[in-house]
Amino acid sequence: MPTYEKILLKNMERPGYTGSLTDYGHAGGYSALEKVLKAMSPQDVIETIKKSGLRGRGGAGFPTGVKWSFIPKDHPGPKYLCCNADESEPGTFKDRQLIENDPHAILEGIAIACFAIGAQTAYIYIRGEFFSGAKILNEAIAEAYRAGFLGKNILASGFSLDIYLHRGAGAYICGEETALLESIEGKRGKPRSKPPFPATHGLYQRPTVVNNVETMMNVPHIINRGSEWFAAIGAGKSTGTRIFSVSGPVKRPGNYEVPLGITFREMIYEHAGGMRSDKQLKAIIPGGASAAFFTPDQLDVKMDFESVAAAGSMLGSGGVTVMDEDTCMVWAAMNLLEFFHHESCGKCTPCREGSAWLLQILQRIEAGEGRLDDLHALESLSHKIEGMTVCAFGDAEVAPILSTIKHFRAEYEAHIEERRCPFRSNVVLAMAH
Ligand code: SF4
Repeated sequence: MPTYEKILLKNMERPGYTGSLTDYGHAGGYSALEKVLKAMSPQDVIETIKKSGLRGRGGAGFPTGVKWSFIPKDHPGPKYLCCNADESEPGTFKDRQLIENDPHAILEGIAIACFAIGAQTAYIYIRGEFFSGAKILNEAIAEAYRAGFLGKNILASGFSLDIYLHRGAGAYICGEETALLESIEGKRGKPRSKPPFPATHGLYQRPTVVNNVETMMNVPHIINRGSEWFAAIGAGKSTGTRIFSVSGPVKRPGNYEVPLGITFREMIYEHAGGMRSDKQLKAIIPGGASAAFFTPDQLDVKMDFESVAAAGSMLGSGGVTVMDEDTCMVWAAMNLLEFFHHESCGKCTPCREGSAWLLQILQRIEAGEGRLDDLHALESLSHKIEGMTVCAFGDAEVAPILSTIKHFRAEYEAHIEERRCPFRSNVVLAMAH
């Protein structure tokens, strides 16, 4: 099996590493912050991150340094940084591991980012269900204050920073950056219409950067080892490593940090050990539940932003969900729609009403009560939602439907015409439910 240097998961694999400030310090922690405060200007930091090619690890993959450069330098009032730790995408569990095992690496990344954009206040917005993660982060924040890495006049540099942990209440949509900002402001978490963008009208209508946990953790390494080192890892415009969460019936599910650009075949059959019980691979969700499905003939697609997009899906949150030959694709699409319908914030009609109608049709087909025109209805309704909503959630909720119909149309037809699921031993579905 190919092995690669780990960057973000390295510390937690050291024997006895606890994630405490002492352990982080022994691993070289906070040296990047010291370097930045003593020897670099905010513009130097932004240029370094730009040159590294680092792109957001939360889903959209926007270049991080470019995002920082959008913050107006001459703005008189406060500016903010919000670290998005609201990891809620089904099949994605990497940020949780980072938060629980190396919290100071996240804090150091946030501090450097705040110095670069001129923010003196940062929030970490953490998913409400991450109880232990919230406790660990709060303890790490307190440790960092005591050691002088947070608070007033950090390392006698004149730079001051306060970090607050904000716990969400468990809404998936609060991972969307503007819904996250609304939630921190104490409002119901609903996405804002853009423009204006957070870079000028973010938290409390002030210039704001929203960056994901994994993105922040890359920053100290880039400062310490240089933008050229980072840009040499990965493939083309997808630089650095990425942590992929692999789930489903594979022999070794888990988080794997690899350079961007390895193939899905290598990830599933080498790192994750291949299919459990040597079953046949049937489908892959390549980048979290919002991504269109791949089929086994796409195993050689490279796991980088451009290659996955060119193949018709997205790298998204890095959640790779694998399905085997026993998985019913109608059930899989219905299962995802149940999630999306439940999590729709209700702000816009196509998403709010459309998800209910889509779910109803899928439930009917899955129950063996489908109608001949249901496939057309699913497709046409999906196309009326796609691109018509306030946030990207609308596109996300139709991706599983359109891609399963595209790749597994015969399964839908079998459910409808024969009133049976090909994966349930010829059981007549209308009777089975
Ligand atoms: Fe809310 Fe859905 Fe509209 Fe996004 S697309 S704003 S989640 S209703």
